[in-house]
Amino acid sequence: MDTLHSVTDVRRARLALRGTLGLVPTMGALHDGHLSLMRRARDECDHVAASIFVNPLQFGQGENFDRYPRQLERDTNLLQAEGVALVWAPAPEQVYPLGFQTTVDVTDVSQPLDGRARPGHFRGVATVVAKLLNVFTPERAYFGAKDAQQVVVIERMVADLNFPVDVVVCPTVREADGLAMSSRNVYLSADERRAAPVLYRALQAARSAYEQGERDANALRALLAARLASEPLARVEVASVADPVTLVELERVPSGALVSLAVWIGNTRLIDNITLGARRPRTGGLRL
Ligand code: AMP
Repeated sequence: MDTLHSVTDVRRARLALRGTLGLVPTMGALHDGHLSLMRRARDECDHVAASIFVNPLQFGQGENFDRYPRQLERDTNLLQAEGVALVWAPAPEQVYPLGFQTTVDVTDVSQPLDGRARPGHFRGVATVVAKLLNVFTPERAYFGAKDAQQVVVIERMVADLNFPVDVVVCPTVREADGLAMSSRNVYLSADERRAAPVLYRALQAARSAYEQGERDANALRALLAARLASEPLARVEVASVADPVTLVELERVPSGALVSLAVWIGNTRLIDNITLGARRPRTGGLRL
């Protein structure tokens, strides 16, 4: 496995690979959620490439860019064990050289939900993913359903800008108690860690109400709020029942609706979501 730093080296290594390439973008501090993406890519592609880059452009003021966990040596060992061929772990100035001023704005779907809570976040995500797709030119790129709005933004960008790549969405990997795996979970104290599965329990309550016939989105939102209120350490920022493509909030709840949460547990912001009814399509539905 090659761990490379410069764009030139990545391009050269990519050109030397014969066959299809699957790219898995990450910010490192890898866990089994990330590794599930690597395995899916390995199953579906001749070669797997990963990026490890804590992207400053997607962190807002006070969002602790500096405190984000960084464990490059451990991460590269894990990727090697997963049979990843190529890893790009650039320094910020390699991704954003002096004078950088071009960004990608996926306008409407970047606005609600996490976009409202984190202004500029999805501009940072779309810009870095566009750059990764240009540097690696993969046939497929793998993303986790855990970051549902991120997937919507990237699918929209790929369709709108004609990136020649298939976006593959992989299911959320969870701890035994339902907590979605996240690099941010290491920030949780023992008490907060015990509180954190409340997100999953609230989502499951919404799912079972839907399965019992509830189709009023406000009733589901009220149920989410009530479940989350049962946990004193939880402070709700987003509790949404939205259209899975436009992210517009719904009144009635069709099959495929996206139920998503952003909840502060102490000083840590956790997100999670489920899709109601029909399973989410495995690959992006927006490709032109
Ligand atoms: P991150 O390092 O947080 O930027 O995540 C890199 C990729 O891994 C993104 O596509 C995430 O959606 C995905 N990912 C993160 N956590 C999980 C999880 N628990 N299950 C599945 N995919 C995940």
